[in-house]
Amino acid sequence: KMPIPDTTGRFLTDLKKIISLHASCGIDSYPLTPELRDFFRKALPRPQSISKNPKVTASPSPRYRKKEMDKEPLVTSSLMDIRQQLGDCTRCDLHENRSGIMFGRGSQEAELFIISEYPNIVDDAEGLLFSGPDGDLLAKMLAAINLDMEQVYLGSIVKCRASAEKPPNSKEVAACLPFLMAQIAAVSPKVICTMGTLAAHVLLKSKQPLIRLRGRWRQLNGIPLMATFHPSYLLKNQEMKKAAWQDLQTIQNRLKE
Ligand code: SF4
Repeated sequence: KMPIPDTTGRFLTDLKKIISLHASCGIDSYPLTPELRDFFRKALPRPQSISKNPKVTASPSPRYRKKEMDKEPLVTSSLMDIRQQLGDCTRCDLHENRSGIMFGRGSQEAELFIISEYPNIVDDAEGLLFSGPDGDLLAKMLAAINLDMEQVYLGSIVKCRASAEKPPNSKEVAACLPFLMAQIAAVSPKVICTMGTLAAHVLLKSKQPLIRLRGRWRQLNGIPLMATFHPSYLLKNQEMKKAAWQDLQTIQNRLKE
């Protein structure tokens, strides 16, 4: 087997990280622009320079240094920057049982930012927030207001798997929340919709039952926020679908303004 030169190995590792970062942001294909072609031309090491000077190695990208990863996200960052700052996060105990970080998905241009509570076991297995029956119902709810999953941005209070039996504690929420807030600033949506009690309680700093929080406009950093039920709750409590439908219609009307 031919040994892989250091620089090539590093390039392939970085490329893999960038592609998985893009995938987590919902980007799965790339147009071959002159810039992209130029990037590959410059980034790929030239075989002759490796063979002439095998000891030359570039210093590791500062992007992945531990100190950088520990920084809080900058509110002015793009989604991609925020994902990079999150890194392979171990800021709270939830990292121990996750298969992967569910950063969020959808469009950076979204007018509607939907905030769930946490990725569940199905999301964790599928590697995608709002997978399984919850996601199917959410897709139907969005279709009812002429939107699809790609037109909105989907995020969650914490980005690693939790469950109704063991929901995220306040320490875990506090560790993850700055990244969600930075994502909201990056997307700058017209409307925020929280789904589920935890999401409403955390973002509205309230302990009132969701039934009292929903159905009325609230504010988060100047952005109108509507709290409603989580699809997983609606699947078990069909009688609440009417109230959720009213919340969605209110959101639709606001988006039209
Ligand atoms: Fe990091 Fe958030 Fe996962 Fe905790 S839940 S480990 S803060 S990404």
